[in-house]
Amino acid sequence: PTDLNALADEYLRLAYQGLRAKDKTFNADLRLNLDPNLGQVAMAPQEIGRVLLNLYNNAFYATQQKAKLADHDYQPQIEITTHAQDCKVALRVKDNGTGIPEEILNKIYQPFFTTKPTGQGTGLGLSLSYDIVTKGHNGEMKVESQEGLGTEFSIYLPVTG
Ligand code: ADP
Ligand code: MG
Repeated sequence: PTDLNALADEYLRLAYQGLRAKDKTFNADLRLNLDPNLGQVAMAPQEIGRVLLNLYNNAFYATQQKAKLADHDYQPQIEITTHAQDCKVALRVKDNGTGIPEEILNKIYQPFFTTKPTGQGTGLGLSLSYDIVTKGHNGEMKVESQEGLGTEFSIYLPVTG
């Protein structure tokens, strides 16, 4: 049994600190909307932690890319939401970054698919995350994105017992 709220918070700080260590000018608004009634959820915390790191790093990257293109008053925002539903918990990672073009949305879970320059992305993050959530935890993973506006990934984990 794991406190998913604490895990989501801890890994967000880790990802943000890691990024700011490399790029001191990077500044994002981090928002955490954590459902206090989430309770403890059975999971492999290190595996779900890897999923969170992947989603967070992708979200930060998308806002960094947009910051390079957008006008100077663009402010990167990453919002994490947890929510208890009937027999599952939902966790969403929303960014206001570059978004994902519709024509590649069906490719992002494929192993080695990446739009990042050589050396910057392996294309394995989402494929691994998808397997951890679906095969490893009997959960679901969904994405909604609008090119130019941002992206929201959602994972759903069943509450057992
Ligand atoms: P990598 O990060 O190494 O490229 P991933 O499997 O994590 O591999 O992601 C695959 C691709 O999906 C990325 O290269 C990018 O094109 C797209 N993507 C994933 N998350 C986001 C996001 N939050 N915003 C925009 N594009 C994204
Ligand atoms: Mg990635």
